[in-house]
Amino acid sequence: MSKKSPQPTTSPWARRANSTVHGYGLYAAKDIPKGTRVIEYVGEKISKAESDRRDEERRARQEAGDDGCVYLFELNERFDIDGDVAWNTARLINHSCDPNCETEYAKGGIWISALRDIAAGEELNYDYGFDWDNWQDHPCRCGAPTCCGYILKKSQRWRVRRALAQAKAEKKGKTVEGKKADFLTEASPWARVKWGDILRVKARCTTGRKTPRTLAIAESLTSGQLQARIGLVSGASRFFRGGITAYTLDAKVNLLGVNRSEAKACNAVSPAIAEQMARGVAKTLGATVGVATTGYAEPDPDHGVETPYAFWAIVVKPPSSRGRWKVTTGKVTGRNLTRVAMQVKVANKVMRALIDVLAPAGSR
Ligand SMILES: [Zn+2]
Repeated sequence: MSKKSPQPTTSPWARRANSTVHGYGLYAAKDIPKGTRVIEYVGEKISKAESDRRDEERRARQEAGDDGCVYLFELNERFDIDGDVAWNTARLINHSCDPNCETEYAKGGIWISALRDIAAGEELNYDYGFDWDNWQDHPCRCGAPTCCGYILKKSQRWRVRRALAQAKAEKKGKTVEGKKADFLTEASPWARVKWGDILRVKARCTTGRKTPRTLAIAESLTSGQLQARIGLVSGASRFFRGGITAYTLDAKVNLLGVNRSEAKACNAVSPAIAEQMARGVAKTLGATVGVATTGYAEPDPDHGVETPYAFWAIVVKPPSSRGRWKVTTGKVTGRNLTRVAMQVKVANKVMRALIDVLAPAGSR
């Protein structure tokens, strides 16, 4: 830089010292009344485009193992502030999940202001307000009772708690494998079954029809859960023909007519295989609507699967014998989901899709 760098900013309210949380920190030099503008957050004023570029660079550094601290601040619609400069003393302020300061726009700049009365000697902190993306990259050691363990904006912290609780339940399930089913170690995923959707599917099949639509279901990933749901509704036998749970390749080929070599090539996980399963079950059970799910309910290192994912298909018989079957397929991913949670998510998605696909023409 050709220009001489400005002197570091100072404030009568704050002094720097080693922090117990992270590196250096700023501390109250004296009692600070609530609402006081403690110190301005200064830095290099840069365009949005430049800001995006620097954020990309930071991500690359982070992936290479650096700490990847974030100092970019939105100043207004056109400019950001890059606070990663030696003269920005406010950059030393750490994040806390239960902060005593907040950021505030005032006098054309960004200020760190006291959220409450702060006693001399207290470490100053504010909520960095990070988004949910890459939350695992920013562990939090703020020590607040409400700390979720990661630096994340308050409104998003429930997601971390949920992901951690699910991971814990999953671990527990593994240590007692064979004795306890996963669903007993989780906060009842069956509680998330949407009863209203089951009734709507029934209505789509029966309401206003002399001959009801008939449903047949082929399941791999959801392991009979869709069949179990449909079977819960009163009068299910009027429209539900039944289903087949097919885990193995042989079962998919022999019972559902899936193409063996195609299925082998993708471990039976693809939209095309889901469609073949749906067609097969509709044919085998003489239904006018076929539904199928296939996929990975949990990570599968043998097949290079880190994040669970699934495909579903719904096929609907045409009204006339010359028409073509209407095919709808979709994909569901389950980042950080346990096996059971993933199965429930897929089942919920398929129920919603059935409601959409079977909606009367023009009602969507
Ligand atoms: Zn924290």
